[in-house]
Amino acid sequence: MKFAGLFEIELECTGVRGCIRGVSDTFQPRSLHDLSFSELVEVLAAGGVILHHARALWRAIHRDCELDLASRDFLPPLKRWVHESVGEGKAYFLDAPEVVDEIRSSDGLTRKFLLRLRDGQTIETVLMGYDGRQTVCVSTQAGCAMGCVFCATGQMGFVRHLRPGEIVAQVLHARRVLKTIDPKKRLRNMVLMGMGEPLHNYDAVMSALGSISDVGGCSIGPTKISISTVGVVPSILRLAEEQRPYRLAVSLHGSTEEERAALVPASKRWSLAMLIDACRQYGAITGKRIFFEWTLIAGKNDSPETAARLVELLRGIDAHINLIPLNPTGGFAGTQSETGHEFQKILIAGGFPCTFRQRRGIDVAAGCGMLKAEKRVRATV
Ligand code: SF4
Repeated sequence: MKFAGLFEIELECTGVRGCIRGVSDTFQPRSLHDLSFSELVEVLAAGGVILHHARALWRAIHRDCELDLASRDFLPPLKRWVHESVGEGKAYFLDAPEVVDEIRSSDGLTRKFLLRLRDGQTIETVLMGYDGRQTVCVSTQAGCAMGCVFCATGQMGFVRHLRPGEIVAQVLHARRVLKTIDPKKRLRNMVLMGMGEPLHNYDAVMSALGSISDVGGCSIGPTKISISTVGVVPSILRLAEEQRPYRLAVSLHGSTEEERAALVPASKRWSLAMLIDACRQYGAITGKRIFFEWTLIAGKNDSPETAARLVELLRGIDAHINLIPLNPTGGFAGTQSETGHEFQKILIAGGFPCTFRQRRGIDVAAGCGMLKAEKRVRATV
């Protein structure tokens, strides 16, 4: 069996400049879920396994969500490769996060999973079923560096980025669960609104989305995938330059530099002016609509004056505004529905489509900004 972890050492101390090749003591196995299809083809080709078998393995992993590859009825060359290369102590493994906790909302439509990764970090994934649609909300980091003051995840700080395979594995877990609930239901929508800032982990996120949207695998359409960002300006511009086909949702929350800075510390790095400019460039390059997320917080950003300023700020951008009544967290209160509807009216009168996001899963703390912290509280109790 060949390991990918070959290393080279230049011998200088003995006066002999040479090269030792061998298997590194610090050899790191790789997740098959981390690999794109073309990388999988290369890996198998290096082991003498042809393209046809790579397709079979890709389907097993991504379409069938298989975690026990040894049990699959593969043809002999692939079966042999799997036997030699996949498993504990071998070159490759599968990301199969352990389900530490699962909580269902009282209406049964939302399920929140606390998943433990290989290094013990825990993240949350939420499966939401409403309006006949099944949507998975995934995490992209353990913790988050952005520190939004109304967000439970933000108060925990940053731990680490997730690998592509750890993002893919959340979607596959949701699909497995959905299959047990109703095999006829399909997971067609995905939002990157769980723990972490997706555009702070750009490469891993793009790699994962490539696998997730592949028609030979999970096949979630790229236009059904929403990337939510708090405003990482360079990555928004990169999304545009690379013509990524996903939907962009920008969390705004403030109509002036001061209003926004009080809620979103990241705006000290990328100001509101820079963010709006990046959004204009994004729209001009891609021709795509941007979804702006506005968490309504009582007394902070829900006044008619703020709504009027927002209309002026976004003028000329093809924008849809999603209003989100704040989920109860961190001492901030959500806007009363009457105030929220007044706010909405001003935006609509200003020419912007504007809807309220449905508050799903609040009773299981699966709403945005409530992930994981609630588990800590429950553990303490
Ligand atoms: S709202 Fe999003 S970006 Fe802000 S701290 Fe929470 S997880 Fe991070």
